[in-house]
Amino acid sequence: MPFQTSVRNRMSCIGVGLHTGVHVEMTLVPASADSGIRFRRIDVTDRPNLIPAQFDNVGATGYGTVVQNDAGVSVSTVEHLMAALSGLGVDNVTIEIDGPEVPVMDGSAAPFVFLIECAGVKELSRPRRALVIREKVEIVDGDKKVGLYPADRFSVTFEIDFEADAIGRQFRALEVTESSFKSQIARARTFGFLHEVEYLNKRGLARGASLDNAVVLSDGKVLNRGGVRFGDEFVRHKILDAIGDLALAGFPIQGAYRAVRAGHTLNNQLLRTLFDRDQAYEIVTLSPAMAPAYVPAHKDGLRLAMA
Ligand SMILES: [Zn+2]
Repeated sequence: MPFQTSVRNRMSCIGVGLHTGVHVEMTLVPASADSGIRFRRIDVTDRPNLIPAQFDNVGATGYGTVVQNDAGVSVSTVEHLMAALSGLGVDNVTIEIDGPEVPVMDGSAAPFVFLIECAGVKELSRPRRALVIREKVEIVDGDKKVGLYPADRFSVTFEIDFEADAIGRQFRALEVTESSFKSQIARARTFGFLHEVEYLNKRGLARGASLDNAVVLSDGKVLNRGGVRFGDEFVRHKILDAIGDLALAGFPIQGAYRAVRAGHTLNNQLLRTLFDRDQAYEIVTLSPAMAPAYVPAHKDGLRLAMA
């Protein structure tokens, strides 16, 4: 879509936070062009409660991505919702929430895709902007690595390697479009290991986790009665997380992302490093006459106007 978008109508869902276990109501609210994606903690009234969903507002990344404003008001586990908004091309929306964490729903982005589709997506009158990767940026941490590289389209390549038999080594690469996101990525659920749950509970984490909202493994096997949704659901979920983390750049990305064993921490470091290097990126305004370069249906429209 060459023009910026928002949701057409208000649309709400209720659910429980994966880590806090707190029940929340969350509402997508239409927003104007150039306002971006912002959370509003409507249960917080004594401090500024608006939190722009931006990489430079990311606080903790250890167990999910947390965004936080200067007053210390935060919303945690934003990545699956951010992935759905990015996958469906929503540029501007205010997310009202009456608690500290985005509901985990079924552990994937599919319920948020449904929520956005129920709300509807509308075009606004301002042209869309995109983040074009001009030079490669890489972060290496031991055997983990992430990178962004110049490319005509937004693509994601991910490799994971776990000892658990049910996971093992998994690799997947895809060009990210609305269609590929919805069919191949959105339904992949978060996952965790049973032996970690006790450890996490002691630290006040994973309090909302259950077999209804996560793939749980023990002794290398999947405990969920229904098994997995895809043979490689785990790497698909890592791709989902990466799309959500990269959405915190604030613009759709034109470039290739590649990761080996990476997670939220490296994804955030990657964006911070990218935006520190002026020559590594450019924010361009997509000409209203043209569709974004990464929409395959408009291959001839690969022309970008300078911002
Ligand atoms: Zn996740």
